[in-house]
Amino acid sequence: MLNSVYKKVKKGEVQERMQIICPKITFHGKKTIIANFEQFCNSINREVKQVAKFLYKELATSGAIENGKLVLQTKNPLTEDKIKKYMKNFVYCSECGKPDTIIKKEDRYYIIKCEACGARKTLSL
Ligand SMILES: [Zn+2]
Repeated sequence: MLNSVYKKVKKGEVQERMQIICPKITFHGKKTIIANFEQFCNSINREVKQVAKFLYKELATSGAIENGKLVLQTKNPLTEDKIKKYMKNFVYCSECGKPDTIIKKEDRYYIIKCEACGARKTLSL
């Protein structure tokens, strides 16, 4: 098993790609919990705090990060849509559509830069 993977890597057949983990959203009483929030953020290469802040704002709520989980103080079925909105605005490249992007700060602006095609876009945060 390991051997065949190694061979493939050597031949360049396996490309290093981002594996995006789907967020697991559940409702618990009046709260929304994203169980694998930290893993999800790691998989899209974004800071946990940054994504959480976006969700607090979009869902007009507050919350807390507990042991890699995000607990939102509201039961909101739009949570998944808001995550998709985040991905569309801040993760997927607007030029090539790939998720291989990074966000960095330049002077007073945040720039989203695509590592796949090199496109850059200034973000208004
Ligand atoms: Zn791109």
